[in-house]
Amino acid sequence: MTSLREGNRKRVIDALRARGVASRADLARITGLSRSTISTIVGDLVEAGLAGERDGQASDSDGEVHAGRPPVMVSLNSSAGVALGVDFGHRHLRVAVSDLSHSVLAETWRELDVDHSASHGLDAAADFVAQVLEEAGADRGRVIGVGMGLPAPIDRSSGMVQDASILPGWVGVDAAAEASRRLGMPVEVENDANLGALAELVWGAGKGRSEVAYIKVSTGIGAGLLSGGRLQGGAGGTAGEIGHTLVAEGGPVCRCGNRGCLETLASTRAIAGHMSASRGEEISTRRLLELCAAGDAAAQRLIGDAGRAIGIAVANLCNLLNPECVIVGGDLSAAGDVLLEPLRTVVRRNAIPSAVESLEIVPGVLGERAELLGALALVMHESDRFYASRLESEAG
Ligand SMILES: [Zn+2]
Repeated sequence: MTSLREGNRKRVIDALRARGVASRADLARITGLSRSTISTIVGDLVEAGLAGERDGQASDSDGEVHAGRPPVMVSLNSSAGVALGVDFGHRHLRVAVSDLSHSVLAETWRELDVDHSASHGLDAAADFVAQVLEEAGADRGRVIGVGMGLPAPIDRSSGMVQDASILPGWVGVDAAAEASRRLGMPVEVENDANLGALAELVWGAGKGRSEVAYIKVSTGIGAGLLSGGRLQGGAGGTAGEIGHTLVAEGGPVCRCGNRGCLETLASTRAIAGHMSASRGEEISTRRLLELCAAGDAAAQRLIGDAGRAIGIAVANLCNLLNPECVIVGGDLSAAGDVLLEPLRTVVRRNAIPSAVESLEIVPGVLGERAELLGALALVMHESDRFYASRLESEAG
């Protein structure tokens, strides 16, 4: 096969991995290839058993209006491969397997102590991987890659967890290499906010968009930044640490060592801490959200104040990056408009008008599964980060 033809085929496969399902017209538009080239490549993939076709619905395609028959939709078969997602949270481990048309085939989770060691966590992940593959009836050799999420900044060149204060059991561990060695599969590790951003782009509130900022508001606060539909990691992969931008000079000391960081005012840890102090009892994030929903004045006030503080940081972010959409996810997003209305007001007041004219600020829709789905999306959407996948070797 000539390298040009091979390259074209790879572009079509990448587009299908990123989109899940697509019409031939979609594929031509995404890849810039001609309709006849697309038809030849899709025909080859179907003949090789790597892709399938089905009659679509008009809504399958990018909101285009189709007079007459809906287009035929193309997707990669599970024989073309499956993707694995592994999500380590502060208190949980989730693992899922999906096919390349973005359907989750099997999924499981368990609680996991926040102070777990990397070795203990990876043992548990390996057990779960075996379990979901069996449940999905998927062969280990069909796995094209594993996306793994950790709630900590990850240095993309070294693969090392950077922050000792969040995941002490993982500091200094080359998480991707260690997981890859144990599982015998290519593994890419990403920060949790980046995975939330990818998931909302592929499955959620950011669908069909390309300039998106995702803000995860939980125990910590982080941002995942997407431009041109791709994650923006910065020089070392740690871009998006919006939780450590200054919003209150001389404010409380942050775990990063600075004062007045956004996290010290607006993380669930900070808010639940104030709430606990005022009520003289330990208030969890869940209880805080229940009190907010029940109309408790102190809970609503504290969450509203958090929204205003986040709004200052988001206004600055909008001035710099001009996203079309800001998606607010993480635990605190469950507070809905109690959080979002003050946030929107502060952004409109503080950002330059041209940066926020057509900006939408919306809640994430994927809830606690966002990072897990993002880990799957990492495999399919950022395919160039996975080397020598089985799919390409079969298709090439
Ligand atoms: Zn800080």
